[in-house]
Amino acid sequence: MPQYEFECRKCKKVFTLLLRISERATAKIQCSGCGSEDVEAVMQTFVARTARKS
Ligand SMILES: [Zn+2]
Repeated sequence: MPQYEFECRKCKKVFTLLLRISERATAKIQCSGCGSEDVEAVMQTFVARTARKS
């Protein structure tokens, strides 16, 4: 399950959630600190790309 990082626009708390892709689109993401739904997804940088072995 992919892990998403969010930042709360209100309290600036950054938190991570494990969500399915389908949940990501529909789920109400709430700040784990203040409970606000005014959160912004932080772009995830995936370090481990599929290594090409030839
Ligand atoms: Zn918050």
